[in-house]
Amino acid sequence: MAAMQFRTRAIHAGQESDAATGAIVPPIHVASTFAQPGAGEWARYDYSRSGNPTRKALETTLASLEAGTAALAFASGMAATHCVTMLFGHGDHILAGADIYGGTYRLLHKIVNRSGIEASLAPSSDLAALAAAFQPNTRLLWIESPGNPLMSVTDIAACAELAHQRGALLAVDNTLASPVLTRPLELGADIVMHSATKYIGGHSDVLGGALVVQDQALYDKLYFVQNATGAVMGPFDAFLCSRGLKTIALRVREQSRTAHELAQFLAGHQRVQRVLYPGLPEHPGHEIAQRQMQGGFGAMLSFEVKGDYAAAKRVVESTKLFQLAVSLGAVESLIEQPASMSHASYDRQDRLANGISDGLIRVSVGLEAVEDLRDDLEQALGVAGG
Ligand SMILES: *Cc1c(COP(=O)(O)O)cnc(C)c1O
Repeated sequence: MAAMQFRTRAIHAGQESDAATGAIVPPIHVASTFAQPGAGEWARYDYSRSGNPTRKALETTLASLEAGTAALAFASGMAATHCVTMLFGHGDHILAGADIYGGTYRLLHKIVNRSGIEASLAPSSDLAALAAAFQPNTRLLWIESPGNPLMSVTDIAACAELAHQRGALLAVDNTLASPVLTRPLELGADIVMHSATKYIGGHSDVLGGALVVQDQALYDKLYFVQNATGAVMGPFDAFLCSRGLKTIALRVREQSRTAHELAQFLAGHQRVQRVLYPGLPEHPGHEIAQRQMQGGFGAMLSFEVKGDYAAAKRVVESTKLFQLAVSLGAVESLIEQPASMSHASYDRQDRLANGISDGLIRVSVGLEAVEDLRDDLEQALGVAGG
């Protein structure tokens, strides 16, 4: 299906009708084990940790949408990220962008370090700083674009060149952009990671993760780790993710359009200090984002309110339509304060040094009408100011 458009592949790649019954939607295969033709002879599937048809259907769709050749689906995004780190060992160094998911920061600094793997952060939107942060033992560069929660934009193609010149792999957490807007493998990345919990599922009702690659040898190594450690996605969750993918292009484009309008509204609001959204011309990464993101600048935005921790806390606790919750990427709009919620696992000093201030508010824009979302922000900012 390589020649077909993204939207068509999102519906059909890997999702063929059931050969046995003609069912348009492939069945959910719940079996944990599969009957074999003979002792020591193996059929396509043998045991569900090693492979499951429902999981494979999702992996096939994802590989197609991310311009990869193969994908692996995990129980969560963190399980997918952890699998990548298990490619490395004692004495290796992982360099990560500074503007990354709080859970990735925690994994690198509090779990992966136990295996003697070093990790450090550098601002990935500053290529000179990033280049200077490479060490002789750096084996992996890990980035996100847009970053989280500051919406920093990282030049993925430039990072691929930088990593490859130094003998390292480039992995991109593509959760925020989704394959609709950015396909890192096309830009030279080696591994794409997703929290499928977000735009892939899209409806706040499933946890999942994924890795997508082009290189067969790299796939084999990752598959070995996944099968040996076991954090695979279950068949019911794989079904929900496959269903979510069918509408991902429509959802992400529309949610991005609404986010763009809300960013413009907030940028003109007297109680707002600054707005971080790659679609605004004043955003420092706007030009790269224009090149790297197609059809929108994403449905996530952050802003700082005038005042401090307490002022931001009042705003996030005053919205009525935006629900106070971490996570992102679903049809429901969410609002949160990174300092006390999504990025609370950072050491406070590291958090402030990385620009995640106490007054920062992060918003995940859903599929509600833009007028209703704008009115809700207006009323919450009014409460905070009064
Ligand atoms: C949520 C998220 C993760 C972690 O994924 P889980 O599914 O929660 O384990 C990683 N990266 C980003 C950018 C995320 O938003």
